[in-house]
Amino acid sequence: MGLSKSKYCRGVQCPKMLWMQKNKPECYDDSVVDQARVQTGNEVGDLAMGYFGDYVEVPYDRENYAGMVEQTQQLLARGVPTICEATFAYRGNLCMVDILRVRADGVDIIEVKSASEYKPEYLDDMAYQCWVLEHCGLTVETVSLMHLNKKYVRSGELDLQELFVLDDRTEEVRAMQDSVSRGIETLQRILADPDEPNRRIGEQCFKPHECGFRSWCWRDVPAPCVFDIRKIGPAKLDPLFDRGIVSFEDARAHSEQFTSQQLMQIYSYLDDLPPHIDKESIRDFLSQLRLPLYFLDFETFGPAIPPFDGVKPYQQIPSQYSLHIVHDPDREPEHREFLATEGTDPRRAVAERLCADIAPGACTVAYHAAFEKTVLRGLAKAFPDLAIKLTDIADNMYDLEDPFRNGWYYDKAMGGSSSIKVVLPALFPDDPELDYTRLDGIHDGTGAMEAFARLCEYPPAERAAIRAQLLAYCRLDTLAMVRIWQKLREVTARTDG
Ligand code: SF4
Repeated sequence: MGLSKSKYCRGVQCPKMLWMQKNKPECYDDSVVDQARVQTGNEVGDLAMGYFGDYVEVPYDRENYAGMVEQTQQLLARGVPTICEATFAYRGNLCMVDILRVRADGVDIIEVKSASEYKPEYLDDMAYQCWVLEHCGLTVETVSLMHLNKKYVRSGELDLQELFVLDDRTEEVRAMQDSVSRGIETLQRILADPDEPNRRIGEQCFKPHECGFRSWCWRDVPAPCVFDIRKIGPAKLDPLFDRGIVSFEDARAHSEQFTSQQLMQIYSYLDDLPPHIDKESIRDFLSQLRLPLYFLDFETFGPAIPPFDGVKPYQQIPSQYSLHIVHDPDREPEHREFLATEGTDPRRAVAERLCADIAPGACTVAYHAAFEKTVLRGLAKAFPDLAIKLTDIADNMYDLEDPFRNGWYYDKAMGGSSSIKVVLPALFPDDPELDYTRLDGIHDGTGAMEAFARLCEYPPAERAAIRAQLLAYCRLDTLAMVRIWQKLREVTARTDG
């Protein structure tokens, strides 16, 4: 088994990952692969090929890499100046260069990423390519990263020179060549070894990418473990594991390592505690909310390549919203909703309808309100004539996540999370009306985002069904907020003790 760019990078993250891929592929959980991201990567990669003008692409053939290498050599011999997917192999180490620029005295390697900024892990990828090409006898002049320009604002036809940023990383790549040699040697040795490498689990299981072999390597780790503790990210795992702190019992024995909110999670679980409710703090929070209350939730999509004028790469474009309005706490709320027409820039229609639906100065509530506020401010910037109204909505917005994020209400079923998808079933475990899993088709924000972004690709009959699913999903988000607000009122209305 030889190496490739992606295998080398996986091996750098964790050499055992490569060994597992070869020897226990059946243990791989492919749900860690974000298919939407892969598709975005392909779309951006295709677009980037035209950055330098005319080019020749070496067609991908997974059955015949030798043929791709051969074709690349022919293109080099013909003096083709820009070759995409230029393929090289040195002693079984294969590499395809996204864009190869051929100059009189050497070549430039350009690695294309769909991200909107540089990330350190890209260097491994580029360093490996440089190593293979130089060992194939080419003189590598420069190695650059090409990524999306987050400042680019589309105006008319896409301007590839502005859409992409070319980031020269030659110096860092050069400095890594010895370590690439050692890395390739080590990985080849591990691949040739029939015995499973002894590699401790830790941060590398998540960074820079989540590993699909966790079900195997983590099989002896108790559930829940310290990784499930609130705000324990991958970076904090190694120091905890080094001290033998793995289970919640271990965590209790080292309580000095954790914050009070983390300890609340640990003790609630271990001692099966009833919900922790800080009534005073919750009352203070609720006292700020003035009727009528507008519970608002946006669904957005954020394509890598801006589809409309005035939009940047990955800008979140609102496509729909749901609004539950509570006029009287003893009566059911009024519901309003809006879903834009697919294939058009939905922002103006969303902004206008929203301004008509929400009374000036009204108290609005969102869950994880920072997102809704960002969307509102983006709309205000795009439409100056509506800016006062839209900014007013953002300025009068409260965040229903606060009581949960701050630990004023904690139930062990929340498992340290304050996400609405976790809080809702914790507060209403048996309520079918509030069960996202019972929804038809779309069960989460990512699903909604992808559904709207690809709506145009469906035949009209299917589109109508998907639009109904989108409306039902978004409606549940705001209904959930109303029920959570009612629950908070209920538990704080009860007499203490
Ligand atoms: S789960 Fe962790 S230790 Fe196992 S192969 Fe993946 S990264 Fe390596």
